[in-house]
Amino acid sequence: MYTKILGYKIFNKSKSELLNEIFEKDKVNIVSGNPEILFNGLEDKSLNENFNSEYSVIIPDGVGTVIASRMVKNPVKEKIAGIEVMKGILYKGANEGKGIYLLGAKEETLQECIKNIKKDIPTINIVGAHNGYFDLDNCDDIVQDIKDKKPWAIFVAMGCPRQENFIINNMDKLPCKIYMGVGGSFDVFAGNVKRAPKWMISLGLEWLYRVSNEPSRIKRLGVIPRFLWRVAKSK
Ligand code: UDP
Repeated sequence: MYTKILGYKIFNKSKSELLNEIFEKDKVNIVSGNPEILFNGLEDKSLNENFNSEYSVIIPDGVGTVIASRMVKNPVKEKIAGIEVMKGILYKGANEGKGIYLLGAKEETLQECIKNIKKDIPTINIVGAHNGYFDLDNCDDIVQDIKDKKPWAIFVAMGCPRQENFIINNMDKLPCKIYMGVGGSFDVFAGNVKRAPKWMISLGLEWLYRVSNEPSRIKRLGVIPRFLWRVAKSK
């Protein structure tokens, strides 16, 4: 059911089993467990507590996490991409008329993302949205807006650890059932960033595609060997 990596419980079933389990829960925080996010959680106490809390489900998002699961000899059933989980939740919400709130990205990206989601899923019920450029310590108006709109699910796309910090600070106060930090996913929906072709995803080369399109990301890749080194040392 779970693979233990560096103290984290990584979800070890299929994406459809994950979605079924999420929809059963009263309150759930879905963590896209890629090496960068998991590494950040090793260095930051409040992130670590959040990732290991009873409300959190960490999905194996990223080939680095899949490799780590093999290193601890409990391979995950499949790599689960956060954006695919987000889509599954959007479709379920649309089928059941449940409200969705989108928080994050630049205003233009956010509007384009909303437009494209509505085009793909015409029955979607987006009850509210706000861009991701505001003061995390001074955002009572945004928190109040989310409370008023009472969404079933909220997606927070502000990069790690900003999106996680928003969720940590506000999960107790908010009425949503599903919370998920989704990094650059609004940019993908908006069409600013493309996902890798299927053959690259299936070979675990999505990172290579992203770096070739956005060379500035190369610095961020350094975290993968550092993460795997920590896993190797922990054995
Ligand atoms: N972002 C934001 N507020 C900020 C900083 C970033 O809303 O203060 C957004 C940014 O516009 C982008 C997303 O967060 O849409 C970050 O995506 P990134 O590519 O870093 O995430 P990844 O997918 O790599 O986790």
